[in-house]
Amino acid sequence: MNGNYLKKIDNEIVIKIAQEIGFDLIGFAKAEILNDEILLYENWLKNNFHSGMSYMTKNLDKKKDIKKILPEVKSVISLGLNYYKNVDYSDLPINAGKVSRYAWGKDYHIVIGEMLKKLENELRIIDERFKSISYVDTGPVLDKVWAVKAGLGWMGKHTNIINRKIGSWFFIGNILCNYEFDYSKQENDFCGSCNACIDACPTSAIIVPYVVDSNKCISYQTIENKDIIPNELKNKFDNWGFGCDICQDVCPWNNRFAKESHLTEFEPINKYLQLDEIEQMTEEEFNKKFKYSPIKRSKLKGVKRNLSHLFD
Ligand code: SF4
Ligand code: SF4
Repeated sequence: MNGNYLKKIDNEIVIKIAQEIGFDLIGFAKAEILNDEILLYENWLKNNFHSGMSYMTKNLDKKKDIKKILPEVKSVISLGLNYYKNVDYSDLPINAGKVSRYAWGKDYHIVIGEMLKKLENELRIIDERFKSISYVDTGPVLDKVWAVKAGLGWMGKHTNIINRKIGSWFFIGNILCNYEFDYSKQENDFCGSCNACIDACPTSAIIVPYVVDSNKCISYQTIENKDIIPNELKNKFDNWGFGCDICQDVCPWNNRFAKESHLTEFEPINKYLQLDEIEQMTEEEFNKKFKYSPIKRSKLKGVKRNLSHLFD
């Protein structure tokens, strides 16, 4: 963009359109090299806390410097989408594994992916020079780091991002773009002396505040691990069959401030995985039932393994 460039898009316009599309949280961060953050991340990798998620070791240069993704990048627009539904597990049937809240409904990659594209397209209609690239979870960007920099919340001791108004039950999407904005103020850390998440974790996966060892984490073991679940974790899963929400469930910020999501896409369709049903399922039936669900990530084999870990 040259010196005669007339700015057509500002914070107000982005916020207005993003809210119309349905985003709950919107923040703006200046694009900069993530020197300190990448050191912490590399240290976490060196300790093998990413376990079998080898994809996390890739593209470190891009994660550190987002100019390597989009050379013209000036800012990151970070967006949060609340998925909380005020429903619990009190009706848990016998021989069923609980599914983490984020996976009850439609896959958030699809939902947010479409919303981000819509926002980017609308901004491009206002100014065709608006250049962007967006990511939800996947991709060579440190999502949570940008969400914190954009003021969406602080990273809690359980390593999820917490927003003072809605807690931590939200998804994050980031748009890298060539526009400059007024940048958001970073949120303070309001965990204080609380250690509820650390104390409640049944596998002691939060080894120190702000550091989770995936090897011990039920979420990792039931979603990402493609191998067998280590025997030492037997009887520690508290009936979680896909993911785990314990550290977020006990967080006082969620207990006080979680708000119902307005989106029907996140209705609790798959709250449980029933042992009998899964045991008898064919690959075809599994793929059909979970076609638009995050549960498909584990594949039928993984889900069967999770349930036999719980009930064998
Ligand atoms: S998701 Fe579950 S296992 Fe993982 S850190 Fe949180 S409480 Fe512990
Ligand atoms: S439970 Fe307490 S320590 Fe853990 S993230 Fe929430 S406020 Fe922070």
